[in-house]
Amino acid sequence: MINPQRIQLLNNNPVLGEHQFVLYWMQASQRVTENPALYFAIEQANQLKKPLVVFFGVTADFPEATRRHYQFMLEGLLEIKNQLKQRGIRFVLGTQGPVAGVSQLLGQVAVLVTDCAYSRVERLWRKQVAQLAPCSVIQVEGNVVVPVGVASQKEEYSAATLRRKIEPMISYFGQEVGEIDCVISSHDIETGIEEASLDSIERLLDNLSLVQTPSALLKGGEHIAHDALDRFIDQHLCNYAKEHNNPANPAISQLSAYLHFGQISPVEIYNRIAPINLPDVPVYLEQLIVRRELACNYVLFNPNYDKYEGLPAWALKTLTGHAFDEREYLYSYTDLETAQTHDPYWNAAQQELVGTGFMHGYMRMYWGKKILEWSPSSKIAFETALHLNNTYQLDGRDPNGFAGVAWCFGKHDRPWANRAIFGNVRYMNAKGLERKFDIKEYVKRVESLIKSKS
Ligand SMILES: Cc1cc2nc3c(=O)[nH]c(=O)nc-3n(C[C@H](O)[C@H](O)[C@H](O)COP(=O)(O)OP(=O)(O)OC[C@H]3O[C@@H](n4cnc5c(N)ncnc54)[C@H](O)[C@@H]3O)c2cc1C
Repeated sequence: MINPQRIQLLNNNPVLGEHQFVLYWMQASQRVTENPALYFAIEQANQLKKPLVVFFGVTADFPEATRRHYQFMLEGLLEIKNQLKQRGIRFVLGTQGPVAGVSQLLGQVAVLVTDCAYSRVERLWRKQVAQLAPCSVIQVEGNVVVPVGVASQKEEYSAATLRRKIEPMISYFGQEVGEIDCVISSHDIETGIEEASLDSIERLLDNLSLVQTPSALLKGGEHIAHDALDRFIDQHLCNYAKEHNNPANPAISQLSAYLHFGQISPVEIYNRIAPINLPDVPVYLEQLIVRRELACNYVLFNPNYDKYEGLPAWALKTLTGHAFDEREYLYSYTDLETAQTHDPYWNAAQQELVGTGFMHGYMRMYWGKKILEWSPSSKIAFETALHLNNTYQLDGRDPNGFAGVAWCFGKHDRPWANRAIFGNVRYMNAKGLERKFDIKEYVKRVESLIKSKS
């Protein structure tokens, strides 16, 4: 059963009963398990006694998407295709781009169901599809525990302000949808559009002319996401509160890229973790729900979420006040990208990012703070950090990435004691890393991770 507050009509058009099939335009929830949009589309198809077709439109133009992102995504889509086939549902992959691909199908679609995303481009695609479609277009929000617009109707100031609102709603919205089967198979449907083959992911990637980045350490797909969740629960959850911030010996889930591509449902993770009787559970759920959904709130309600101007007024003011402070170290974008700084800890973090596609969360904070300290201006620093983050993190281009980079510049934080360059924005230094953990062990860990890859 889908909570009705997850469902939104995107236009006022009718169901076109004479048309051939129900379409699920999959975009943000790239999974078969625990996917409310897929569940809703199957329900619609069964009620209308029609087959269901699932379409995914790949575009090489997605802002800042690179080869490593698409490799991970296509690995997941191949698994989806095979799983849907077993359930009698035809999966169509197009490389015309999502809106162009969906438009080519519209003449056959009785009802169009889609999932929900928050970034500017993803919202624009949905708006365009809803305007173009002669049939009813319905969005089902499945990548958060509490629907973002239900949790709050405005941009929240901090985790504390959102937490008060969201916590009482978590168990109500934390209900899983489960699975239903399609009554009518869509195997034999001819869509008439040009389809891309997933037989060779490498060949498809070559044809997409993407910005080249080395492949990441993690592989994409629902099965691998579930294995990672099992491993986290068995081996690391019991140390999460104590060790999740320790980059030398991390007790983390590494689910962020799977969550970013919608390859695993946060509701499913919540239901696996919440019943476990460990003091680490609320600490983990704070990250998975409060922090993650605070980032979605930021992206949905702040029109400048990806710009320096999106920072809070106090942070902009204090950074401007320190614009002319002397910088002891100044690095160019290329110095930073190639990890050529004087700081071995920062360089290790950057090497982890470029070499593996994942940087430990605590190092992400240090990494962003140092980019602010070593750049000619705070605006250049913001743009550098966001671009490196979005290009190289496998989980980049996500609300968490926009909010995470903005946090390094004061977003969702409070003013701290005044100091050079940072003004009242929170400062971090290498001594803090040395005091808190065996940071040299982190540097060694990164070296061996990168060696294991080659
Ligand atoms: C500068 C900077 C950049 C960041 N860029 C990204 C990004 O591009 N994509 C991304 O998903 N996260 C980003 N984060 C947030 C966070 O660091 C990562 O989500 C986390 O490290 C991913 O590792 P994990 O899955 O093992 O997390 P776990 O510790 O296992 O946490 C579980 C889940 O909770 C969520 N979560 C954890 N920490 C945060 C947080 N601080 N804010 C919001 N959600 C959180 C994530 O979805 C994560 O997968 C960034 C943080 C900073 C400071």
